[in-house]
Amino acid sequence: MAETTPRPEQLIQIDYKPPKKDWQDPKVEFRKGTYCYSALPKNLEYLGLPNPREWQPYEEDWKLPPDWKEIILNGMKERLEKFRSFRLFMDICVRCGACADKCHFYIGSGDPKNMPVLRAELIRSIYRRYFTPAGKLFHGLAGGRELTVDVIKEWFYYFYQCSECRRCSVFCPYGIDTAEITMIGRELLNLIGCNINWVLEPAANCFRTGNHLGIQPHGFKDSIDFAVDELEEITGIRVDAPINRKGAEILFIVPSADYFGTPHYYTLLGYLMLFHEVGLDYTFSAYASEGGNFGLFNSHEMIKRLNAKIYAEAKRLGVKWIIGGECGHMWRVLHQYMNTMNGPADFLEEPVSPITGTRFENAKSTKMVHISEFTCDLIKNDRLKLDPSRNDHWNVTYHDSCNIARGLGLFEEPRYILRNVCRQFHEMPENTIREQSFCCGSGSGLGTDENLEMRLRGGLPRASAVKYVHEKYGVNVLTCMCAIDKATLPGLLEYWVPGVEVAGVHELLGNALVMKGEKERTTDLRGEPLLHTKETEAAHA
Ligand code: SF4
Ligand code: SF4
Repeated sequence: MAETTPRPEQLIQIDYKPPKKDWQDPKVEFRKGTYCYSALPKNLEYLGLPNPREWQPYEEDWKLPPDWKEIILNGMKERLEKFRSFRLFMDICVRCGACADKCHFYIGSGDPKNMPVLRAELIRSIYRRYFTPAGKLFHGLAGGRELTVDVIKEWFYYFYQCSECRRCSVFCPYGIDTAEITMIGRELLNLIGCNINWVLEPAANCFRTGNHLGIQPHGFKDSIDFAVDELEEITGIRVDAPINRKGAEILFIVPSADYFGTPHYYTLLGYLMLFHEVGLDYTFSAYASEGGNFGLFNSHEMIKRLNAKIYAEAKRLGVKWIIGGECGHMWRVLHQYMNTMNGPADFLEEPVSPITGTRFENAKSTKMVHISEFTCDLIKNDRLKLDPSRNDHWNVTYHDSCNIARGLGLFEEPRYILRNVCRQFHEMPENTIREQSFCCGSGSGLGTDENLEMRLRGGLPRASAVKYVHEKYGVNVLTCMCAIDKATLPGLLEYWVPGVEVAGVHELLGNALVMKGEKERTTDLRGEPLLHTKETEAAHA
């Protein structure tokens, strides 16, 4: 934690009094800890994006191209014509305020421009001024604002203080999706070279090596081999983890953090055990070695470019269908865009579980099934031997990762798995889970250290709900199914709720899974001693 990061007792003092200045005044103070650094020119160059240059948000001169205003207005015009939802969202807001207090960044910062309605108004006011007859004639009187450099700076600040979580859209009576407005705002900024490095570096890496971390094929293989060795030590069983195997039935795609980060890595161990146990005919791909898609945080064009490798690898390897691992925005992209952007994947088959015969009709168009759907089906059909007592050291709650819950609609599957693999499970308060889940505060590429204060503020509502179940029931682990959550929630909880760990759903499944021929398990996948072993059973007898 940086020395400049305020302590929790300071950060919790949130001032909700509206500032004295007019909301139309765009001037922003770029205070350390509340914004992200600009993207390095090499990353823009690699991706072929416009206006690569050295600059930083806190500098006075952003070195914008001379015709920046024209570029932005042309970009807006193009998008108003292309995306019907964008024009609709610009027109139909009645400023009812139902969304106003629903954003975690507003709750955690007290800054009114983090109210979804006002965040959208930052761009809507430009729309009114330049694209509506009343605005063209009456300017400010019709709610329009002049497009100035300060407006661009304001957009940058607030569109990178929205994690595109869509919680606000659940409460809007008109279904206005502020996340989509943020996406357009970021696309427009992109046109004049105003992007953040935490989004563009992973995107450039992904374009070069297939994954956000820039891991090359031999590094990918080393990581998977390491996991296989470690699993053998824990279980006594050597699992097969094929990579680039042509003719396998299923292609399995995970976020790269699963094979390079913790606690993600324990989730990977869980997948490997599961697939071995049910004898799944599958393969990883060393190129489609990333399910995540940071293009979602940059532009529609970038989403398409980064997503294309999934179907390309499925075709090259000759698989029948695809399973995807625990990742958040991977599923938003997959569920909302993949089939129309890079499909139809007519060369693939409608997914059918080779173990249970279940047809996944919901994946008819994408041909891609979420790992939790696959696992649920196995449990429901009694194909797994599970010993939930092996998770007795965990008192569990579940965080609905925004893109899994609101983006994909997976609410029950993870809970069904958890209720079968552990004996202590407690839900957080109703208005903080399922559709109403609070974001981790670091999604959409905001999970960088220079932005830590804002992340801690944005994560406050989620952390408060965790604190509630921690104090009331003794919950000591927050499970989730998103790689960004697994990377950022540990720091958030350490700050607001020390004593609560973060884990993947398939980590707990791996702990509970009784494998044929395994040696007696004395530790969980983290190497921590189990509470419930033959030894402890004998001691209690
Ligand atoms: S999408 Fe999420 S982060 Fe963005 S304004 Fe809505 S609630 Fe806030
Ligand atoms: S809830 Fe919808 S209509 Fe109401 S202010 Fe928010 S975005 Fe506008």
